[in-house]
Amino acid sequence: MLPDRIRRVVQRLSRLPGVGEKTALRYAMFLVTADEAIARELGEELMTLHEHVRRCEQCGALAEVRQAERLLCPVCLDPRRDDSLLCVVARVQDMMAIERSQAMPGRYLVLGKLLSPLDGVGPGELPIAELRSRVKAGVKEVILATPPSVDGEATALLLARELSDLGVRLTRLASGVPHGGELEFADQITLGRAIDGRRKLDP
Ligand SMILES: [Zn+2]
Repeated sequence: MLPDRIRRVVQRLSRLPGVGEKTALRYAMFLVTADEAIARELGEELMTLHEHVRRCEQCGALAEVRQAERLLCPVCLDPRRDDSLLCVVARVQDMMAIERSQAMPGRYLVLGKLLSPLDGVGPGELPIAELRSRVKAGVKEVILATPPSVDGEATALLLARELSDLGVRLTRLASGVPHGGELEFADQITLGRAIDGRRKLDP
């Protein structure tokens, strides 16, 4: 009994993570019955989203496309950041969580994924060459801030081994972030303490 058009909107919305068919229907009904501007503005933003937002060339976070030379995110563009401290995270959301804690004055590298043999993600899928070249450019400490899950620990260990010949200090966030938990959901104070209390890692 739904018009085809609405059915298609529901179908597309239900492709989003965490959105089931019921929620998708709720969103679609809202978009079609609420003020027209809401649907139009959302549509316009989404239409040009990929044109305007890309991965930062240096760290893999998100950057706004501008007429500038290199495509860099606000953290990479910030000249006040400590170039000798590099924080490696799994996802952009983790970087955002750490930024909210205001305890990390350095720079970042976003892996985009974690080592996960069961899902077919091997060492070859991780940006190890990029990480090594960032470290060689003057980094003194690498904080391996992958989550305290099985995949996160395995990834940290692998990266620590890959960097072990470079003489860089390797650290891991202190406990406080719940095991298996996502950094994203740790509160600012807990995350700030975990960064301040980071421990040395010996690969
Ligand atoms: Zn960046």
